[in-house]
Amino acid sequence: MKFIDLDFQYELLKEKISNRLRGVLESGSYIMGPEVLELEEQLKSYVGVGHCVTCANGTDALQLSLMALGLKENDRVITTPFTFFATAEAISIVGAEPIFIDIEESSYNISPEKIEAFLSKLNKDELGKIKAIIAVDLFGLPANYAKLKKICQDYNLFLIGDGAQSFGGEVECKKTGSFGEISTTSFFPAKPLGCYGDGGAVFTDSKELADLVRSLRVHGKGKDKYDNIRIGLNSRLDTIQAAVLLEKLMIFDNELHLRQKVANYYQQNIGDGYIKPSIYDNHMSAWAQYSLRCKAGDARKSIQEKLNAKGIPTQVYYKIPLHLQTAFRDLMYKRGDFPVAEKVSETIFSIPMHPYLKREDQDLIIEVLNQSV
Ligand SMILES: *Cc1c(COP(=O)(O)O)cnc(C)c1O
Repeated sequence: MKFIDLDFQYELLKEKISNRLRGVLESGSYIMGPEVLELEEQLKSYVGVGHCVTCANGTDALQLSLMALGLKENDRVITTPFTFFATAEAISIVGAEPIFIDIEESSYNISPEKIEAFLSKLNKDELGKIKAIIAVDLFGLPANYAKLKKICQDYNLFLIGDGAQSFGGEVECKKTGSFGEISTTSFFPAKPLGCYGDGGAVFTDSKELADLVRSLRVHGKGKDKYDNIRIGLNSRLDTIQAAVLLEKLMIFDNELHLRQKVANYYQQNIGDGYIKPSIYDNHMSAWAQYSLRCKAGDARKSIQEKLNAKGIPTQVYYKIPLHLQTAFRDLMYKRGDFPVAEKVSETIFSIPMHPYLKREDQDLIIEVLNQSV
């Protein structure tokens, strides 16, 4: 059994993808070929925003977004400590400082209430340094954007959505990627919509921001890449990856539906010995991961071993919350600062989740889980 089965999907799309790739190879347009523009058109209408700009990966998508918003040294950006490292890394790369705020125990996403409590205690000088919030849609579940938007309006902050795990997720029938000033996603192979290498994208309704990201991804180009009007990056999506994504996008809604079916079956049949994902009303997760917590605090290791003995792979996302990562030691956070993120990181684990997970495999996973507590 595989944790994420990319081979099955490849078998399904083999011929179509091979034809697309042959087309790119024979065209010679390896960089910014027509497939890249076609993909950007399709992604922007899928997400329902004015502009989509693809780039080299989801981390660059965050960095490009922060650069386009003008974030730099001495600025501060609020984000969650319970995410993949790249979310906060991008803040540091542009010279700004991540400010971590604890998560909600129910959704594992950043807590709007805790952000408000934090902001309400700051003086005017301190408030002036805080420029943005990066919300992360952890495991595919969109963050609480309604509340986050209100806070951003009240405190005059930019809202950035890190949708690396949530492409396809929805709030009240609106897709992730359409909530903040600017949002990002990743096409890393294991994400809900993945390519066969690295890839990413930025979404925004602002033409000004989209134009800035288009310039920034090609060395801060002006008229062309030999006219450089700002410092940027080299961060384009390869034509080959765009070609792969065009084929995968065609079956993506069906895959979302299949993921939802797997999630529903887990939700209904995994017993009460576990804390299962809770999804806010009107929200639809993209189910990048299906993650559980053991009610008995120290049982994770033995449950993972029992699953492993039956050939069922598991993963822990994330063992070390970001405020305790060595790379952020200079920020001077310590154990105990974010008790919810810390507790969750000690008890959570993820079980196999992908659109092609067989019912008999789901049954085995559920049986072993329910016998283990
Ligand atoms: C994967 C991921 C990223 C980074 O995406 P890459 O394409 O690997 O650079 C950023 N944020 C989150 C939450 C992620 O899961």
